[in-house]
Amino acid sequence: MALAPDNQRKSFGKGEVLQAAPPAPLTEISNCLEKIKVGWKKEGYLAALWHDWSKIAGSKLAANCRPISLKRGVLIIGASHPQWRQALIYNRSRLLASLKAGGHKIKELRIQQHHLTENKKIESEFNIWERHPSRVDVHGVNTCNTCGSPAPAGEINLWGKCGFCRRKCLEGHQGPSL
Ligand SMILES: [Zn+2]
Repeated sequence: MALAPDNQRKSFGKGEVLQAAPPAPLTEISNCLEKIKVGWKKEGYLAALWHDWSKIAGSKLAANCRPISLKRGVLIIGASHPQWRQALIYNRSRLLASLKAGGHKIKELRIQQHHLTENKKIESEFNIWERHPSRVDVHGVNTCNTCGSPAPAGEINLWGKCGFCRRKCLEGHQGPSL
């Protein structure tokens, strides 16, 4: 007898019950984005800071240091390397001044050594959202050829149809290969 994959089985008493297959990657991405957006709300406008970060910090510093949390006006910046931590400390007052000049209500800067893996994780979450095809503010709006509704141009460029039509299409072709 063939066994269902682990993620479709659930122990139940002494036996197991089968459960629905995990959601398709599309749903996972959108769930993931929801989490990111919720995270952003919690973090205040850390996302806005990310946008301006290379302008504020300069490209060299920005590539090696990232704002990682913002609470009550205290911005914590993580540096990927002790050398960059030193550079941040050295530039702290300049950085604080340019943050204030950029309209960010930062009262204090704290600098931390930050592991690159964590940096990469934050960065990849940021990039997913930054390039996400559903971003109308990035890609603009177009009309879906399939349903004729206005839809994010990024979705249409990527899939030839809006995300809604794509989802319908994927649901219509359920199978192991997407
Ligand atoms: Zn459509």
